[in-house]
Amino acid sequence: MRLPDGFLSYCNEWEERIGAFIEFAPDGPKTDEGDGGAGSAASTSESAAAVAGFPFAVKDNIAVKGFSLTCGSKLLANFRSPYTATAVGKLQTAGASVIGKTNLDEFGMGSSTDNSALKKTNNPWDTSRVPGGSSGGSAAAVAAGIVPFALGTDTGGSIREPAAFCGVVGLKPTYGAVSRFGLVAYASSLECAGVIADTVSRCRAVFSIIRGRDPMDETTQDPPPNAPPLYGSKPGSKCVIGVLSPEAIARAAASTVESERLDAAVQAAVLEDEVRRAFDASRERLAGLGYKLVDVEVPALKYGVPAYYTIATAEASANLARFDSVRYGVRPGFAENADDLVDRARDAGFGPEVKLRILLGTFVLRSGFQDRYYLRAQRIRAGIKKSFESLLGGDGYGDGAGTECNAKCGAVLLPVFPTRAFGRGPSALSAFAQKAADLYTCCANLAGLPALSFPVSVEGGLPVGVQLLGGAFAEGTLLDIAEEYESRYPFPHPPGYRAFWS
Ligand code: GLN
Repeated sequence: MRLPDGFLSYCNEWEERIGAFIEFAPDGPKTDEGDGGAGSAASTSESAAAVAGFPFAVKDNIAVKGFSLTCGSKLLANFRSPYTATAVGKLQTAGASVIGKTNLDEFGMGSSTDNSALKKTNNPWDTSRVPGGSSGGSAAAVAAGIVPFALGTDTGGSIREPAAFCGVVGLKPTYGAVSRFGLVAYASSLECAGVIADTVSRCRAVFSIIRGRDPMDETTQDPPPNAPPLYGSKPGSKCVIGVLSPEAIARAAASTVESERLDAAVQAAVLEDEVRRAFDASRERLAGLGYKLVDVEVPALKYGVPAYYTIATAEASANLARFDSVRYGVRPGFAENADDLVDRARDAGFGPEVKLRILLGTFVLRSGFQDRYYLRAQRIRAGIKKSFESLLGGDGYGDGAGTECNAKCGAVLLPVFPTRAFGRGPSALSAFAQKAADLYTCCANLAGLPALSFPVSVEGGLPVGVQLLGGAFAEGTLLDIAEEYESRYPFPHPPGYRAFWS
């Protein structure tokens, strides 16, 4: 692809400061045979124009033929992908080019990208801080203007939290809206491939290209015919926005009596003042744009994090069993026998967070105890899904009335993360607090619903985002609201940003 003058030196300068990429190859990987991927893209001319001829970055747990596929792990440090993920292939068919693979928390496990075993990535707004995670490399690359959009994955917030930390747009689609073919699985029932982009309209365009049924992933489906349209919604139509306020979350927390540990987790989810201010401002601005805002409550939310970590680690312990260094992965130099080979490879290859989660996953699944942990978590998950469906409507869309049929609101506004991008060393957020803070993001994954994070202000030199959560296949509604917000309150860029890709 043709790159604009000065672009490569711009990339190099940024990359030296932020380290967003595990592999940066603007001319394509050496072994690339021009594989167009598995999907043909049914794109509108509007969406094709927003991606054709543009470079994009791909999180390094999504396959692109010939490129690295390290998942941020030592175990896969030398692995190159033999094929291309459907979502990537669709974008290539639409005329966009992969420019590189971005850093992530190992196998997508984390909220800072510091859990990558391969390198550190810094936040473009303040390089002493983390970019968020796990799709931190993708969010940092977009925020720095290296690429106009990137692909990430979101299992419990990994697109939305780094998007908020870096001041860009992040969309976690409805479960099954985008193919997972070519994603390295972490927790299959929760994760989605999604978009990180510089503007809402670009996010919409990329999503319109990558979504849709894929025979390679049986959990995918096309949007139901009566779902809110992605393009061309009725001009001026404004849905009711439910507000899941920090007070509502604190109220849910106050009713928690049974566990001190759960109380500590809820405390860790209290918003810092700057985030609180930005959230309140976004609420007022949306009201000023003519949206009707109503307060809503989801009491079951307080159990979201324990349920998320039970289900996610259970699935991870099964999914990561394939990394035995026989079929994939770095092999130890010496082993007594086959079992010893696998033990040594996994011990040397996996980092501490991955080991912790595999252990936790096998613990919650151990024989005789499923009832106590895993099945209980599934019941909580069903309850959270039901609570959101009672607010946003089910996914039937059968009577032709769209989300209005039984929904109290068209979207729910809530925070993304209780803090802005945090620092390292003494100012870092503890591993426990990082997990507790997933409260705001993991509920969309548990419920399988779409959620969009977009920047609303800069507080003390760092961006703050908020999140809109919608009914199944109602991405169009969320994007409409955010786009209206953006046209009135344009999104900020970090100092040094240059717009190469407008
Ligand atoms: N913070 C979440 C976790 O650590 C996010 C994971 C994800 O979405 N991949 O599990």
